[in-house]
Amino acid sequence: MDLMSVASEFGTKEACFDFLEKKRWPEGVRCLFVDANGAPCGSDKISTIVTKEGKRKNGRAIPSRRLYQCQTCGHQFTPTTGTLFNDTHLPIQKWFFAVALMTNAKKGMSAMQMKRDLKVSYQTAWYLCHRIREALQGGSSLFTGTVEMDEAYIGGKYDERRARAKYDKAPVVGVLQRGTKEKASQVQAMHVEHVDKSLVQSIINERVSFDANIYTDEGGVYRHLAKTRNHQIVVHSKDEFVRGEGHTNSIEGFWSLVKRQIIGQHHWVSVKHLQAYLNERVHAFNNRKAEDMFGLVITALLCGIALPYAVLTADLEVVSDNVGDDPRT
Ligand SMILES: [Zn+2]
Repeated sequence: MDLMSVASEFGTKEACFDFLEKKRWPEGVRCLFVDANGAPCGSDKISTIVTKEGKRKNGRAIPSRRLYQCQTCGHQFTPTTGTLFNDTHLPIQKWFFAVALMTNAKKGMSAMQMKRDLKVSYQTAWYLCHRIREALQGGSSLFTGTVEMDEAYIGGKYDERRARAKYDKAPVVGVLQRGTKEKASQVQAMHVEHVDKSLVQSIINERVSFDANIYTDEGGVYRHLAKTRNHQIVVHSKDEFVRGEGHTNSIEGFWSLVKRQIIGQHHWVSVKHLQAYLNERVHAFNNRKAEDMFGLVITALLCGIALPYAVLTADLEVVSDNVGDDPRT
């Protein structure tokens, strides 16, 4: 959704809350209360309390609110209770703008850019970007048909002596199901500790169906796959990049998108959050043909659970891409 449409459709809190309410409860609002034994109330007898925007005696603004009260159990909640939107003091319209900015940015969005566009503090922008990424954890359906698998290494310090990035790189592994006439290609990507045979085998077992044709490069970690799966190796070292169907170009194309996002937008990402950046790229890639990307992300935020700032910022460990000095751009 373009920014002009967001501004005209979601310029007021009420419009945003209406949209959230419809997405969250298409059949009408239901009580969210769950008792100590885990039994939900689920009542549809809900009254809505809307407080108008106003001013206190001391001149401070009272924001408008929408509150629901269950007539059966008395529980009170809002359209954002228990979602990733919850517990922020940010006006809901800014959330909607943030989602539009992020879904429109083809190469990802840095917190610094978000800060400038939304006129919020860097900390708020950074937190916002991460909450949105948190919501984008892609599904992990079983891949079938033609599947490419490959690993890549993100970041790492530049080795002057050998003139290449060498150490400290964070390994990532991906599988890509090639597109057919009916369905565009789909990808899954994971940040892992270390790439070895058993990890490759467990990813294949969990994510790739038995009848799939798997293509990989000649890396040693893939050699054993032919024992249990339909596996073909593409020999890069012999200039054999494309032999008919046998190539890993699609997954390599995806890695270049990931690297471009990290180098071009973020310059560095922490190891802790690398998976979140991967999820963002995976979500954008897998839904690149979706007509309502904006609605998809808003729905994802409604389904997510609130993520405290303290959890996000604990134990940061940085992967640098060694581009630019300001780590916050
Ligand atoms: Zn209730």
